[in-house]
Amino acid sequence: MAWDFSTEPEFQEQLDWVADFCKNEIEPLDLVFPGAAYSRNPKAKALADPLKQQVKDRGLWALFLDKDLGGPGFGQLKLALLNEILGRYRSAPVVFGTAAPDTGNMEMLAAYGTDEQKQKWLYPLMNQEIFSAYSMTEPQGGSDPNLFKTRAERDGDEWVITGEKWFTSAGAHADIIFVMCTNGMFVVPRETPGVEIAEYPATHNHIRYDHVRVPLGNLLGPEDGAKVLAQRRLGGGRIHHAMRTVAQVRLAFDMMCERALSRESHGRVIAEHQMVQEAIADSYAEINMLRLLVLWTAWTIDNSSTQAARTQIAACKYTMAKVLREVSYRALHIMGSLGTTNLTPVQAMYAGAPTMGIADGVDEVHKVTVARNVLKGYEPHPGLWPTEYIPAKRDEARKKFASLIETDSELAAWADAAVRTTARG
Ligand SMILES: Cc1cc2nc3c(=O)[nH]c(=O)nc-3n(C[C@H](O)[C@H](O)[C@H](O)COP(=O)(O)OP(=O)(O)OC[C@H]3O[C@@H](n4cnc5c(N)ncnc54)[C@H](O)[C@@H]3O)c2cc1C
Repeated sequence: MAWDFSTEPEFQEQLDWVADFCKNEIEPLDLVFPGAAYSRNPKAKALADPLKQQVKDRGLWALFLDKDLGGPGFGQLKLALLNEILGRYRSAPVVFGTAAPDTGNMEMLAAYGTDEQKQKWLYPLMNQEIFSAYSMTEPQGGSDPNLFKTRAERDGDEWVITGEKWFTSAGAHADIIFVMCTNGMFVVPRETPGVEIAEYPATHNHIRYDHVRVPLGNLLGPEDGAKVLAQRRLGGGRIHHAMRTVAQVRLAFDMMCERALSRESHGRVIAEHQMVQEAIADSYAEINMLRLLVLWTAWTIDNSSTQAARTQIAACKYTMAKVLREVSYRALHIMGSLGTTNLTPVQAMYAGAPTMGIADGVDEVHKVTVARNVLKGYEPHPGLWPTEYIPAKRDEARKKFASLIETDSELAAWADAAVRTTARG
């Protein structure tokens, strides 16, 4: 039997450990020292590093990477099951070595880096000795890479990069920035002269690259290969976001259900009102549809490749945004005035939902990808009528029974009646 929705017992044990660990160790850190896991401050490191060590000791560090790159080689499906837990907690991805934007950058380095580049950047990133950012979007347009202008010119044994980037997440805190140029992907140490980080926005940075000089060896992958590298990078990142979104919508759902059972209105607990039941029922179905789409996509990546799962990844991208929007709204609404405050996570979740439809590519662009790829499997119908045009199909079917109809008047009468019924319909 090939279809199976169960988790193998050994990995389920790991997941149970992760759930407890996150609840008992990571959630308290998030509530009192948010950001400690990302910090280089020695006191913050003293809090977070022992947690990271526990994750390493369990063999769960950098789960997205294959064995030959230092990860456990569990694959995307197991990562999805893990992320369904981690996504609830702000610091969990970094404590487990699976935080964006480093994961996507590491995947790019792992796939396209030379041995020297891996030694210099991949392994230090894996060990969180350094952090990275990804600079692709430009102020004049993000959805269409053909509008990008940032370019590198070769000058002797250096590349000279000039251009402007917008919304580079964590750019101001990164040690290295992966800069997508029209003629290649380049690794730029943030401290390089000419890297100018604007004051605003604070977390997703506006960066000018003013004749930034890097050695020839900082070109990652082939010259002119930036779009291919970007696809590789963003594909992985998108599915990881979708996995964590499953965790978020489950959290919203838990809050919705608990609250619905806890409050009364008009003579009954809220959960007994049919419109509340509809919200719960719709959310239940939508969360599971998203989850199965994500797990199926992860399975496809494991059993084939990221490229083979491209249509599925795009579908995950806009579906997660939609389900997050719908479910977090219903949860907020059912929680009433409390839901509108920052006293529970639901308000921030709902406020952040539109961001999901923009980051890593806007919904519309992913829908176009899905439609285009799906349509490749279809042809226009050859004549005036569609393939499913019933009169034509029935004429064909009558040929199969021709000898019977000719010899049996009762059957011939049935066949004529059926044709008349169709014509009326
Ligand atoms: C939280 C967050 C983090 C991000 N981090 C990074 C990062 O680390 N590095 C980085 O380089 N970028 C990053 N981005 C930028 C992100 O990649 C872009 O915002 C995204 O690609 C869209 O580009 P844009 O913002 O310029 O919107 P635009 O391209 O201007 O699009 C705006 C709107 O126009 C419409 N539209 C655009 N194209 C089409 C189309 N083909 N069909 C129909 N409608 C269309 C849509 O309604 C779309 O929402 C981040 C964004 C967010 C929100």
